[in-house]
Amino acid sequence: TRVLLTGGSGFIAAHTLALLLKHGHSVVTTVRTQEKADKIKAAYQDYVEKGQLGFAIVPDIAQPDAFDKAVVSDPPFEAVLHTASPFHFNVTDVQKDLLDPAVIGTTGILRSIKKSAPTVKRVVITSSFAAIVNGTKDMTGHKYTEADWNPISRDEAEENPMMGYRASKTFAERAAWEFLEKEKPNFTIATINPPMVFGPIVHNLDSLENLNTSNQRIMWACQGKFKDEIPPTGIYLWVDVRDVAEAHVAAMEKDDAANKRFFTLAGFFSNKEIAAILRKHFPQYKELPSESTPGGDYPEGGLKALYGFDNTRSIEVLGLKYKSLEESIVDAVKSFQDVGL
Ligand code: NDP
Repeated sequence: TRVLLTGGSGFIAAHTLALLLKHGHSVVTTVRTQEKADKIKAAYQDYVEKGQLGFAIVPDIAQPDAFDKAVVSDPPFEAVLHTASPFHFNVTDVQKDLLDPAVIGTTGILRSIKKSAPTVKRVVITSSFAAIVNGTKDMTGHKYTEADWNPISRDEAEENPMMGYRASKTFAERAAWEFLEKEKPNFTIATINPPMVFGPIVHNLDSLENLNTSNQRIMWACQGKFKDEIPPTGIYLWVDVRDVAEAHVAAMEKDDAANKRFFTLAGFFSNKEIAAILRKHFPQYKELPSESTPGGDYPEGGLKALYGFDNTRSIEVLGLKYKSLEESIVDAVKSFQDVGL
């Protein structure tokens, strides 16, 4: 299949790119700068020479016409995987820094495809558990599924960067489904909705300073930042990045994935459990939290006091087999060591 993958320099997209190439698909990936394209190129020289991998520079997805040129190619695209969207909390203006690139990025690419890439049959969009979770109500005992939507409002998005991020994912995904309903395009869509994503980095980082947001807590623990107290876990659901990449590729390849959301997750985790895995495998980090360091645990009452989940659809339709937390955390740390941890 001829595929356009947006945001190829990202944590999840880098694994998705690797898998697309492995499955024999022909890929053009968008990145923001030529420098980022050159880094990916260096890692995939063979594929570039064979003509199986190419690049398009899209500096800012918040521009409504950002993808007008990128969606046009020869041979033409049959599928688009849209992963690019800001995931960081370094935010001064929620509208400009989070909502615009998420929402305009999504509606913009769908419009460009409808207008200029009529051969595209499937669009896979990286959404998030952020578009599912209800962060303001006690959800104890509720079993989250693909039927749930985050009820967050535009005003709540301004409360803090975390709420801003969740709103950006919710509004962007909602806009995609609305586009489908109103515009009746030639393509079907599928959304991938992972919670906290952990696992090895394969994208080229200049330094650990630029580590993607969801992996930061693992690095911080190794660096001794949780020595005296482990911070609250926040969201207690996680998934390995390689399984998220599999989900994207399967959602593109499988007819049955058409017009479905996929809540892709492996299970529960706590920061305390991550600390225990780190102690077991990486005793060389002397400032890891100890067994008696406070914080980072499940709420009082344990898993029973939490919400539940159902990931059946991702297993049945996409064929996912989820990796364990231990494997994910160990492989993450090994990959950080390659860039100097
Ligand atoms: P990264 O930060 O590694 O990737 C984000 C990607 O989006 C980067 O390629 C980034 O480019 C690009 N991007 C961001 N803003 C813009 C913009 N204005 N214009 C062009 N490109 C932009 O994070 P992840 O890989 O984790 O995130 C990928 C997707 O997965 C996002 O949609 C995120 O919301 C979603 N997701 C992630 C989860 C996680 O736990 N990691 C959980 C659930 C969903 P550059 O690096 O050049 O800035």
